[in-house]
Amino acid sequence: MAYTALYRAFRPKTFEEVVGQDHIKTTLKNQIKAGRVGHAYLFNGTRGTGKTSVAKILARAVNCENPKDGEPCNECEICKAILDGSLTDVVEMDAASNNSVEDIREIRNEVNFLPTRAKYRIYIIDEVHMLSTGAFNALLKTLEEPPEHVKFILATTEPQKIPTTILSRCQRFDFKKISNENIVKRLEFVCEKNNVKADEEALNLIAVLSEGAMRDALSILERCIQDGDSNINADKIKDLVGIPKLIYVHNIIQAIIENNVENAIEEVENVINEGKDLTNFLWEIIKYTKDILVTKIGKKPEIYNNEELEKIKQLAEKTSKDRLLSIIFELSEMENKVKQSTQKSIIFQIGIMKMCINTERTPHIAKDQNRIEQSTIGVRNTTPSKKRK
Ligand SMILES: [Zn+2]
Repeated sequence: MAYTALYRAFRPKTFEEVVGQDHIKTTLKNQIKAGRVGHAYLFNGTRGTGKTSVAKILARAVNCENPKDGEPCNECEICKAILDGSLTDVVEMDAASNNSVEDIREIRNEVNFLPTRAKYRIYIIDEVHMLSTGAFNALLKTLEEPPEHVKFILATTEPQKIPTTILSRCQRFDFKKISNENIVKRLEFVCEKNNVKADEEALNLIAVLSEGAMRDALSILERCIQDGDSNINADKIKDLVGIPKLIYVHNIIQAIIENNVENAIEEVENVINEGKDLTNFLWEIIKYTKDILVTKIGKKPEIYNNEELEKIKQLAEKTSKDRLLSIIFELSEMENKVKQSTQKSIIFQIGIMKMCINTERTPHIAKDQNRIEQSTIGVRNTTPSKKRK
């Protein structure tokens, strides 16, 4: 998604304005108020969850001449200079394009000098997992003996790729996907400021589509109003972006678990009509089923927001570990077959139907209970698929 104008225009300027991430905001504000800000942070989380926004706010808050309750004032000379990007003491670096040893060595040389105007020289390194091994080693040396006047904020979507030696020197904060409710609230605010009229269904749909990423939500909103028409409804969004992946995935797995062949056929048709890459899609379903299994054994899969977790939990309660394992096994087999076949759609259709009909390994669920649970999940209310026909 290329459009980021709304996202930039509505980037939060204080912790208070950041959507969600309450635990992180509170901890950071308390550290700032107590004068106990760490020298290295790792912000982990999927895209669009506020890592960079929080990093920028933190950079201002620790340097602000007049901080209030742990928040930057955004009005003093330092705040203003950081906001307009003219203060050289706050350095933003994208490790995706600056990942060499030389890039980090440059930082190592710089940190020895005192900041020009601010209290602290702050390095915000985005996508830090992209650094080369040599660059990580160079960074480690700086993190081991950081000068008093230097702070690092590292942001990543893939913490598992960061050496433990680096991780152990950072305070780690895990940014959660933003809840649909919070995304809708923020969208309402942005719509009001831009004189955009969007009904509730439309905003809910954008929230679902954005899968917990505020940036994506605003990008979708932006694309919806680019034709100059500031009225948005669900149909317009559907035409523009298609149907969300996660809802497809959820609905198909739900149909399999409930042995609901009719629903499965309908969902499968939707996927095929959308022209999705079926191999990728199957991989998504396998991952999702794995996460249901993870939930079933009492652990919490990381990447979902609360609404999504609730749906996963409900599916987990409806089925057994054995059934989930056999679904994963059958899906993997199907993935291989689809890869090799020239008739991918048919293999996919038959495979999913077979899994619905094949009830041998399934614990029996009373039909009425099934119906009640289905209505409480509520996914279908926001599923565009019903109206697509
Ligand atoms: Zn200030």
